[in-house]
Amino acid sequence: MKLTDLSWPQIKELSRDTPVVFPIAALEQHGRHLPLFTDSMLLGEIINRVMPRLESRVLFAPSLWLGNSDHHLDFPGTLSFPPRAYLDTLCGVMDNFLHHGFRRLVFVNGHGGNDVPARQAIFETRQKHRSRDDLLLLLATYWSLGGRPYEVDSSLVQRQMGHACEWETSMMLRIAPKLVGNYTAVEPVAQTDAFAPAGRGWVTGDRTREGHIGSPHLASAEKGEVLFRVFADDVAALLERVVAWDGKSWA
Ligand SMILES: [Zn+2]
Repeated sequence: MKLTDLSWPQIKELSRDTPVVFPIAALEQHGRHLPLFTDSMLLGEIINRVMPRLESRVLFAPSLWLGNSDHHLDFPGTLSFPPRAYLDTLCGVMDNFLHHGFRRLVFVNGHGGNDVPARQAIFETRQKHRSRDDLLLLLATYWSLGGRPYEVDSSLVQRQMGHACEWETSMMLRIAPKLVGNYTAVEPVAQTDAFAPAGRGWVTGDRTREGHIGSPHLASAEKGEVLFRVFADDVAALLERVVAWDGKSWA
């Protein structure tokens, strides 16, 4: 079900155990060869593939296209919430749904920079409503749900999501090839971090001059289809678990 298509009486009639999905994306630079709306388009495609599988069992809000992208602001066109305003916005949206009586809220995330604020938002919201025992507040970043696309298609070289990389460029070639620039000539940028596993503060320019991280020249539309299938399966499987939750237990 789409939140945008229902009337308030229809919302009122829904079971309050209906999981609510709030997709969060971004508008930010994606190297020289991909459009600024890449994260929003890719997440939109995954949601479009997942929605029919859940039918009337899950309520889908429209995607929030503005995300936490301050680290990309040195590249023209990038837009970003001020990070603290973004955190407050996510908390506020969760409070809206809780006010309407819903108890199972899932941020499905399509942008790495949203991960920390969304994690903080679900944690803060849980503390705010600490006396309740019926809340399920989740953050699910679509490429971090366990799927291993390189085991499905051994021609995939990257082992993790980069930025405007083999994975993202492949998925864009699958859904919007006309918006993809000359990716075959792009030099790879290694996905390394000398101080891992420590967390390190960074701006994008610390890591890449052109804006991408990873190997866009390896992309293909066929790989993109595999990636979409694996990630949509992961998101759908997670939402099935949210539907099936007994409403009380941790397990
Ligand atoms: Zn991206």
